[in-house]
Amino acid sequence: MAEKLTAVKGMNDILPPESARWEWFEDKVRSLMRRHGYANVRTPIVEPTALFVRGLGEVTDIVEKEMYSFTDSMNGDPLTLRPEATAGIVRAMVEHNALYNGPLRVWTMGAVFRHERPQKGRYRQFHQIDVEALGHPGPDVDAEQILMCRTLWRELGLVEGQDVRLEINSLGQADERQQHRKALIAHFEAHAPVLDDDARRRLHSNPLRILDSKNPAMQAVVESAPQLMSFLGEASLAHLATVRAILDAAGLEYRVNPRLVRGMDYYNLTVFEWVTDKLGAQGTVCGGGRYDGLFGQLGGKPTPAVGWGLGVERLLLLLEATGSAIAPPVPDAYAVIPDAAALPVAMRMLQALRDAGVSVQMHAGTGEGRGNMKSQIKKADASGARHALIFGAQELAQGQVAVKSLRDGAGAQVLRPLADASAWAATLKPADAGFVGR
Ligand code: ATP
Ligand code: MG
Repeated sequence: MAEKLTAVKGMNDILPPESARWEWFEDKVRSLMRRHGYANVRTPIVEPTALFVRGLGEVTDIVEKEMYSFTDSMNGDPLTLRPEATAGIVRAMVEHNALYNGPLRVWTMGAVFRHERPQKGRYRQFHQIDVEALGHPGPDVDAEQILMCRTLWRELGLVEGQDVRLEINSLGQADERQQHRKALIAHFEAHAPVLDDDARRRLHSNPLRILDSKNPAMQAVVESAPQLMSFLGEASLAHLATVRAILDAAGLEYRVNPRLVRGMDYYNLTVFEWVTDKLGAQGTVCGGGRYDGLFGQLGGKPTPAVGWGLGVERLLLLLEATGSAIAPPVPDAYAVIPDAAALPVAMRMLQALRDAGVSVQMHAGTGEGRGNMKSQIKKADASGARHALIFGAQELAQGQVAVKSLRDGAGAQVLRPLADASAWAATLKPADAGFVGR
């Protein structure tokens, strides 16, 4: 036998029954987006490397050490598997002049890639929901986006304050960060001996990034660093105050965390993260903020924008940790067809049922492997289907099929006409959606 191949380390297969949770979650997200006026977009998984270097910032964890970058062997182009979705969306908007008619709210869902050390909640290929409001200066849409997340948590059965908590901050504007930067450098220089290699390297290139350090040995010096908040001017403070007033009125609790800086350089003003303490070190399930400078940085007209990204794997792990049950969908019916000669007639009827929205699993097999009536009914039972459609010789001779209940009132059987399946198809469908959340 040939040697078995395995998936790339840190990249996961998503198979049944787990995939049912994904589909359930994706349906919730789609509905949320529709209700908030967000249109779906899809951009390529591979982009020019320069997009991320310019967009995310040269001195960021992602660009310095997490990107899957390679050279196109056909033409030598430097390419990168997208490590996040925002830069690609902004590139697409600029390239297609998509904001020509005014602001746009868009969202996408897909795989992103980061070369990190794989562990629970941290993978090399993972999935993000990415939501962007383009062309609005805020702070109204900033607050709307945060509240949108809250709606999603509620609809997923998560309890805010208990399962997820909101942290917000303001990163102000470039000139305010410039003043803060000087104070930061002075502070870290005064504590030079405790800085780690990353921090020392970033001291003059990107000192704000040091605040994002996860090194426990650096927490004290990070904690005592001057806070950007005290460098903010009137307009930045007013922006934050309006966001807070809307959240307060909505009864949403949050913590203003002056140390929240986020991992990319493109953010300004509002930034936020939804965190949990149920996933150990991988505590951030969702993060976002305003990035008014990114369009300009990527060669577009200056355009205010705000967005958030959610880690799907982490969110689903959190749902599991909170005891959210999943019941994978089962077919409405399983078709028992003992005699292969009946297949043409039987399958024509199954088509009619499926056209009417019934889910049907057909028994399949050839020759001896097809199995007799008894073994096929066993398979029907094991499939979890609510009904068996039995195409027995006697029933077929009368132009009928026997419909046997396998769950509620198991054993009860009725005869239905083959010719007119659409008329009784609805009797096979469940009353509920067949999927139970928490
Ligand atoms: P972290 O601080 O945990 O590395 P991040 O700030 O790098 O997260 P973002 O770039 O904001 O993360 O990405 C948005 C979301 O994607 C995160 O909140 C998280 O839920 C998820 N995420 C980030 N990196 C990974 C990963 N390697 N594997 C799985 N999910 C991830
Ligand atoms: Mg990270």
